[in-house]
Amino acid sequence: MTTSTPPSAPIRVVVFDLGKVVLDFDYAIAVRRFLPRTRVSLHTVNEALNGSPLLLAYERGELSTAAFFAEVQRLTGFDGSLAEFETVFGDIFTEITPMTALVPRLKAAGLVTAALSNTNDMAIRHIARTYSFYALLDHQVLSFEHGSMKPEPRLYEVLEARTNSRGPEIFYLDDREENVVAARERGWRAFVHQAPEESIRTMATHGLPVA
Ligand SMILES: [Mg+2]
Repeated sequence: MTTSTPPSAPIRVVVFDLGKVVLDFDYAIAVRRFLPRTRVSLHTVNEALNGSPLLLAYERGELSTAAFFAEVQRLTGFDGSLAEFETVFGDIFTEITPMTALVPRLKAAGLVTAALSNTNDMAIRHIARTYSFYALLDHQVLSFEHGSMKPEPRLYEVLEARTNSRGPEIFYLDDREENVVAARERGWRAFVHQAPEESIRTMATHGLPVA
């Protein structure tokens, strides 16, 4: 497992971050739907949920969905059920089809595909039942299942172990610079995703069958 991989090693695994790479999301949509069901201000809702310590604890797997929801109720006075909350906060995604279309294409060419994501149980259940590309991925490495978030090394180690791949055998796209830096430190071929056309060009440059 510790054998070094030559820099010319062919790519075996293509890894996608989910948010803002294969799925766009608009948090403001959820907040607009959620706010009238609470007894607090927009500011308080944002403080409770948007990038909050509470959400981070949930995405790190320190809180169950039930515990997360109980805390949201306590902080905001949300008057609905967990099922309603899941509808409000699950349905914030839009598929980025030029990217999701790559998954079957890469698999058909014999490549392993994977997701590497900081996310939570509620979002993943919504994604799994809504978007067909998700089940096509060979591996899903998710922060809340491993008690670790990118850019910490642990989640990257899980991906390497699951795929039995290392360094330049792994091609990775993520919209966040710090996550790409951490991947590059491991020798992965990692790139900041900004637009599908640009990322697809980069993939082609690395010999991936994206055309
Ligand atoms: Mg992202």
